[in-house]
Amino acid sequence: MFELSPTLQKLVRQLNKVPYLASKNVYRVAMYFLNSSQEQVDQLCRTILEAKEVVKQCTICFNWTEGQELCVICASAQRQKTTVCVVETWYDLYALERAGEFKGLYHVLGGSLCPLEGMGPENLTIEPLIKRLDGSITELIFATNATPEGEATASYIFSKIKDKQITVSKLASGVPTGSSLEYMDRITICKALSGRRPF
Ligand SMILES: [Zn+2]
Repeated sequence: MFELSPTLQKLVRQLNKVPYLASKNVYRVAMYFLNSSQEQVDQLCRTILEAKEVVKQCTICFNWTEGQELCVICASAQRQKTTVCVVETWYDLYALERAGEFKGLYHVLGGSLCPLEGMGPENLTIEPLIKRLDGSITELIFATNATPEGEATASYIFSKIKDKQITVSKLASGVPTGSSLEYMDRITICKALSGRRPF
């Protein structure tokens, strides 16, 4: 019976552990690396190691930051510090930033509640978010995705903070059901933000 060489087997096994690399594509990715120059592979490995070492989470909002404790958004004097937009992931944050409409701060949850996949409140940054709300924040905008998990996450957080003296809103229903901010265009994002309604 045919078997891959031991090192190639090891490479395929490691690549298979990377989520989002569909198992069908793993052989193509392995082939790409084997056909690449030594320098290309060295550079990629060095960049991954470097990113792993220097890119950290902002201690306030959990966005990525490099070399500083706070991310550029939290550290900026231009941002409106009384409004916080709650997103599931940093790429949702980037989608909102690309739209250029929102001038407040963010809070990156790190995903959404999904008990079947073992994602409970303790796996997200919900506790730190609730702690943030004891200061100068007056408005919280939920920009979690329009999926059952995203909605459940927003409802869970809302149940924990409903006694606090802050305005809580969510993006307008213009966000297509089941969609992620990541794939939305600038105009849809701006409309969803400006048309936000009470939670
Ligand atoms: Zn930050």
